Amino acid sequence: MIGEHTDYNDGFVLPAAINKVIYVAVSKRSDPEIHLYAAGVDEAFKTCICELKKCEKEWANYILGVADQLQKWGYNIGGFNLYMDGDIPLGAGLSSSAAITCATAYALMELFLLSVPKVDIVKIAQKAEHTFVGVNCGIMDQFASVFGKKDHVIFLDCKSMKHQYIPLKLDGYQLVLLNTNVKHTLSESAYNRRRQQCEQGVAWIKAGISDVHTLRDVNLKMLDKYVKHKDADVYQKCKFVIEENQRVLEAVAQLKRGDLAALGAAMFETHEGLSRAYRVSCEELDFLVESVKNLPYVLGARMMGGGFGGCTLNIVETEKVTELIAQLQKAYHKEFLIQLDAYPVEIEDGTKLVW
Ligand code: ADP
Ligand code: MG
Repeated sequence: MIGEHTDYNDGFVLPAAINKVIYVAVSKRSDPEIHLYAAGVDEAFKTCICELKKCEKEWANYILGVADQLQKWGYNIGGFNLYMDGDIPLGAGLSSSAAITCATAYALMELFLLSVPKVDIVKIAQKAEHTFVGVNCGIMDQFASVFGKKDHVIFLDCKSMKHQYIPLKLDGYQLVLLNTNVKHTLSESAYNRRRQQCEQGVAWIKAGISDVHTLRDVNLKMLDKYVKHKDADVYQKCKFVIEENQRVLEAVAQLKRGDLAALGAAMFETHEGLSRAYRVSCEELDFLVESVKNLPYVLGARMMGGGFGGCTLNIVETEKVTELIAQLQKAYHKEFLIQLDAYPVEIEDGTKLVW
């Protein structure tokens, strides 16, 4: 709901799992081979459990990375077949990657009768992405995927890893994701650069206050004193993260009061911050958020995920959803000559076994 780019800064996040899924079907093999098939791309890949390494197929690396991590954590797995299919749009900020790694870890745990604590599934899934895909992602996506609970958001403290479920009562409103269907190439390098800038800010403060380890330990006063005069850009990025953490804490209070309108207003602020200060938005995302900003039946909207494309998240009056989608699709196509996809979504349970 809110809390973007805070996870890798040891901050607060407020995610949920939605009713879009990756399914993996698994079976044991009598040999030590791994046979994978991804239905969405109609591709297969074969290797051996004894020589797990990165391969040229990106989708397979998510799965192999999990198998590798399970072994490194000391879990004993043998050869297996895995068939994957799903309906999560790829690279749209909806964490299809975390869905794959979490589903794979969960499935292999069931298949080989391992008892892996839920929080370790989260860590294994995250590490798989770091090591085999090369994306230095935070913990939020995997945590939401594994711990998702129907009709609840998860208030997670990424420092202590403690979480709390908060009911999301939408009463007459609907969550709607709008997919820009663009993915600008900047995204990976910019993501890494943002992480570096946050670390740089912390390093400057740490030189003056030694018990500061991440932006979680930093307040605006420290930032003003140690970072402002050094680098305006680093200052701006760190300031966004500190403010975004604050917005999560306020959002939790707003949700507990049932004040959805206040949460919606905070989402618009988050978008403004992501666009103007953190600079991870793009014109397509900004267009969508601007288009709904003054509509009385849209409580809030913001871009979501890493940025530079993907989806916006909107809280829309249920009765107006169809009309709004039609309107925006027309306007978006007129502006960019690109189709806008819309997904009204429900908040669902996370990774689980289905027969
Ligand atoms: P996001 O996690 O925001 O969706 P990522 O770039 O992290 O974006 O992950 C997208 C990648 O995950 C795709 O490039 C692809 O390799 C893989 N992927 C996601 N869903 C599927 C699927 N159904 N079949 C095969 N690969 C998939
Ligand atoms: Mg991802």
